[in-house]
Amino acid sequence: MIDLKLSEEQIMLRDSVRDYVERDVAPKIDEYDKAQKSLYPEVLPKMGELGILGVCIPEKYGGAGFDYISLALVCEELERVDTSLRVIMSVHTALSSCTLWRWASRDQKEKYLAPQAQGKKIGAFGLTEPGCGSDVANIQTRAVREGDEYVLNGTKQWISLADVADSFLIFARVGKEKGVKGIASFIVDKECPGLTTTSFHNKLGVRAGDTGEVSLQNVRIPAEKLLGKETEGFKIAMTALDNGRYTVAAGALGSIRASLEASIKYSHERKAFGQEIGKFQLIQEHLAYMQAGYDQSQLLVYKAGWLKNQGIDNTRETGMAKWQATNYASDAANRAIQIHGAMGFSGDFPLERYWRNARANTILEGTNEIQKLIQGSFILGYRRKPDLRCSLPSYKPGE
Ligand SMILES: Cc1cc2nc3c(=O)[nH]c(=O)nc-3n(C[C@H](O)[C@H](O)[C@H](O)COP(=O)(O)OP(=O)(O)OC[C@H]3O[C@@H](n4cnc5c(N)ncnc54)[C@H](O)[C@@H]3O)c2cc1C
Repeated sequence: MIDLKLSEEQIMLRDSVRDYVERDVAPKIDEYDKAQKSLYPEVLPKMGELGILGVCIPEKYGGAGFDYISLALVCEELERVDTSLRVIMSVHTALSSCTLWRWASRDQKEKYLAPQAQGKKIGAFGLTEPGCGSDVANIQTRAVREGDEYVLNGTKQWISLADVADSFLIFARVGKEKGVKGIASFIVDKECPGLTTTSFHNKLGVRAGDTGEVSLQNVRIPAEKLLGKETEGFKIAMTALDNGRYTVAAGALGSIRASLEASIKYSHERKAFGQEIGKFQLIQEHLAYMQAGYDQSQLLVYKAGWLKNQGIDNTRETGMAKWQATNYASDAANRAIQIHGAMGFSGDFPLERYWRNARANTILEGTNEIQKLIQGSFILGYRRKPDLRCSLPSYKPGE
């Protein structure tokens, strides 16, 4: 049975993350966002120190040993201040470290997972390419086996943490097999000759985050950097996205809360027609919709988290949580702007930043159109549930 009561440890974790971001990050986030300056060099060391970066990774791999609900709590607190903070958890922790936890060999775990879980090294995820995002089976980056090495060539685009990561999970076509069976996954160190990164500017949102391109030109890596088997890259990518989407959904809860909290404050402060605008029922309707979005999304996120804790396949439930929570977050930011009137349109208030950031989440880690297709394929029985049955290690304390 799903138990929604948080443990004392979870409450302490949530409160420590909230204290840190409210005290150290919130006062300067607008400045970073407006200057389009990456927060990451500043926040990553402290996040590592707090144990946030390996929050759901077992202690034996250097993590903090919390469960997936705890991961959601951290994401919510981070995104309440800014989406760029939560992106770190999605990319480094969920897409990279959780994937290593599930798929890496013992040696790979020792070399990559343990330092990542402690925040000493940063991992990123390179799937999207200039020619394809949703259509993963069509990636063009190639890996050719030459003796004890693979040689990689291609370009990965829209890669979060491109400029700050120490290593990347790179998905590439290998061998002659077409479609999803011909995709493999590799761990590629940033310092490999032939690997270069560049950072994008002028994004609509996530402006305090680092998003860029990873170019691979004749990058030679030892064969032991292959993650899983040569034919398992697509499956690895999908299991990674099951975790990444969960963190996006959980982060959206923080985004809704930020919009709601600002709107409650303004509804009490702002006067019109001789009374605070909160007294108007049409303002209350906006607030009621925002609260409904939060409550419904929270249940979906916790349900997905509960399934993850049991090690039960959760692709459909996670997709539902991601689709609904990110739509509600966009809607909440939109309503918050409306409640603030012209001030909501102003760069002096954070609402326009919330709205710009919320737009990213309906696109990244699988667009919301793709999330709807996932629902349809399960509803109609086109997907067989057992395919990804063991997509996640179940959470057992101390494991
Ligand atoms: C801020 C940000 C950070 C990101 N970080 C990363 C990262 O770290 N690593 C990484 O690999 N990628 C990352 N991405 C890329 C992201 O995952 C892709 O943008 C996303 O998967 C969509 O791919 P696309 O942009 O190529 O859109 P496309 O796939 O070209 O889609 C364009 C439109 O067509 C729709 N569409 C496509 N196929 C279908 C279909 N079958 N049915 C109905 N509609 C369809 C889409 O929903 C969308 O509306 C990031 C993106 C952003 C914005």
